[in-house]
Amino acid sequence: MERAIGVDIGGTRTRVAAVAGGRIVARRTLPTQGLPELISALREVAGEAGWEPEAVGIAAPGPMDMRTGVLRALPNLPAWRDVDLRGEVGRALGLPVYLANDATCAAIGELEFGHRAADFVYLTWSTGIGGGIVAGGRVAWGATGQAGEVGHMVLQPDGPPCACGKRGCLEAVAGGATLARRGSELLGEVVSAQGLVERARAGEPRALGLIDAACRALGQGIAILWEVLEPELVVLGGGLTGSWDFLGPKVLAAAQAMAREQIRMELTPLGDDAGLLGASALPRHIPPAWRSGAYGPRV
Ligand SMILES: [Zn+2]
Repeated sequence: MERAIGVDIGGTRTRVAAVAGGRIVARRTLPTQGLPELISALREVAGEAGWEPEAVGIAAPGPMDMRTGVLRALPNLPAWRDVDLRGEVGRALGLPVYLANDATCAAIGELEFGHRAADFVYLTWSTGIGGGIVAGGRVAWGATGQAGEVGHMVLQPDGPPCACGKRGCLEAVAGGATLARRGSELLGEVVSAQGLVERARAGEPRALGLIDAACRALGQGIAILWEVLEPELVVLGGGLTGSWDFLGPKVLAAAQAMAREQIRMELTPLGDDAGLLGASALPRHIPPAWRSGAYGPRV
């Protein structure tokens, strides 16, 4: 049975879990602070599990160097600039450490423990929009490990500016941060993305207009991915999928109108844990060139 520790570093909270054979046996959730807090949580979870982990897999949202295992940055968290996660965590725990993009990790979680399809796209719809691609049972990593950045497909070349510097990215039209900002402007009061969805559900016309446009953009993105990759299904996760009963039919109708074949969408059965579970399975999926060889298991 494989025993590893998975870590999912988010913009505000970090989750750590000891995972054996795909089952979480101990977990911690902590505010995303610095490296010492993360290392303490890793030690606590390993101690609670009662077994020696074989590796640590870390999912993170920021840009990273896959060859060296250095996290370049985390959004809005200056303390996490150029952090040598593989080296620091590896030395502290005496274990090999693997690092990858969080949406790619969620796709791995889905591949190993979710629907287990051989060909699918995983799409996370929350503050931003991220993705991971699995083709023929293998993760598509891309040249530097950043494949599957579906949120930065440009759908409207003259559209709203995106945090990445381009205009009209899928994320800039349909991401939760955009929905909250534009919804607040339009309604003249502060609303969250979730709040905007509830207003739309209640029939507020301006909220409904924004939500319909977001669903159309997401459907358009999914239709493009469907035509290019011919997956068996698109798996969705992330906070906004909590309102899938309302949003799902809109997204599916928009996607279907732009695709030749029947599109299949499913929510991940793993909920919030897709990235965490996928991180724990990173040792089995990460390409050899990006493996850490310097910190062998403690004996
Ligand atoms: Zn962008």
